[in-house]
Amino acid sequence: MIAIGIDIGGTKIAVGLVDEMGKVLAQQSLKTDPAKTPEQLIEETALTVNALLAEQNITPEMVKGIGVGAPGPLDAKNGRLDCPPNLPAWHGFAVVDELRNHFGAWPVHFQNDATAATLAEKWLGAAREADNFVFITISTGIGAGIYMHGRLITGASGNAGDVGFMMIEPGAAGTEGYWEQIASGTAIARQASERLSRPVGTKEAFELAAEGDLQMRELIDLTFKRLGMGCVSLINTLDPELLVIGGGVSQIGEPLFEALRAYVSEHALSPAGRRTIIAPAALSQNAGLIGAASLVHQTY
Ligand code: ADP
Repeated sequence: MIAIGIDIGGTKIAVGLVDEMGKVLAQQSLKTDPAKTPEQLIEETALTVNALLAEQNITPEMVKGIGVGAPGPLDAKNGRLDCPPNLPAWHGFAVVDELRNHFGAWPVHFQNDATAATLAEKWLGAAREADNFVFITISTGIGAGIYMHGRLITGASGNAGDVGFMMIEPGAAGTEGYWEQIASGTAIARQASERLSRPVGTKEAFELAAEGDLQMRELIDLTFKRLGMGCVSLINTLDPELLVIGGGVSQIGEPLFEALRAYVSEHALSPAGRRTIIAPAALSQNAGLIGAASLVHQTY
């Protein structure tokens, strides 16, 4: 059977057909054009799905359902986006009902995008062997998915794991001090630009630090510490055996992972917590799509 995966993001909507082994048979992306209404974009999504099904000779009977990942905050129970900052036109939009208008026959499963990526890492990625882990994505913002006692933890409304809004350091970097305000890719670029009095991108800030720029070195060290602080809070709260770290900023690789391991091994409360394994995500490219399909295939 085939799952239709739909990953709704601030810049694009990825659509894919995923089989029971997690293989993406075909996929396509559409731009989340802010000039278009969500209804128009879902209609385009539906046309894309139908084109992919036709291209792959997949009949309706071969489709098990539709899995959708979308940015939070959302209302998973009622199938609505709530108030995702990067998709203002979609606030309150009943995406599940709209998809049912196009595809009445198939069940629609709906979750937070970080939650879906968590399932992808459990199914085919870095957390295959773990029964207790947290997936953290450090990207434009910071998000997470929580998998404990062999189960996904989604909370009352589907918003468990919105760790970007975990309070880390009130007042830090001139913000309220939420994790993503002080340690996301966006936060790194903002602080780097302030320090160098010119526009500096996240990747450039890392490059300058590696080349020996003292101001950028100090900023990156501080950012790693703040990322470590959030990891320690999650470890002390949830007692996971593993943290899987993904998202654009994690592409910086070993320097980040070494810093996080060092911070956690010093600051987590329990001896077990200090030994928590911290590993890179394995499915950077298609984690959203595969995770959305995982909701359908119920691999968790
Ligand atoms: P999204 O937030 O849309 O899911 P990403 O996960 O790609 O997107 O995260 C985007 C953030 O990651 C941006 O702040 C970007 O500057 C940063 N980023 C992307 N690639 C790298 C890299 N190689 N090194 C450091 N930061 C990166």
